Amino acid sequence: MSADLSDLYQQVILDHNRRPRNRGKLPTANRVAHGDNPSCGDQCSVYLRLDAGVPGQPDRIGDLSFDGSGCAISQASASLMTTQLKGKTAAEAEALYQNFHAIVTTGKEPEEISDLGAFAGVHAFPARIKCATLGWHAALNALKNDATPATTESHTD
Ligand code: ZN
Repeated sequence: MSADLSDLYQQVILDHNRRPRNRGKLPTANRVAHGDNPSCGDQCSVYLRLDAGVPGQPDRIGDLSFDGSGCAISQASASLMTTQLKGKTAAEAEALYQNFHAIVTTGKEPEEISDLGAFAGVHAFPARIKCATLGWHAALNALKNDATPATTESHTD
């Protein structure tokens, strides 16, 4: 990674920490899921409004937000996640998560410069991968309407 790109990515994470996007309860949410990462002490709740598609079209995420506390990686990642998933279908959200998961576990940067690439450096710190994926797990559980709290202890990642 070039030094410039590394700086840019660092700034993405700092910026999401300083000014979290879509933070707080979403009054119009019809789905909610909670995520817990006991190995680091991170918590994340995701509030999501799933809008019914017109007949023949899949439902889409009309709006979403997160709330929680924990380390900088977990909170910045949850903030970024909310900006990435708005307007997406469940299948698109799952595909984006797979992308993000590959970035944080392998350090392979996305082909196009994307804010998701800001988390590529996490792969060098395997214990922090759970921090980076916590909000995403909660969001995917909310999409599945799975009320079971997402805990990183039940995942290998
Ligand atoms: Zn953490």
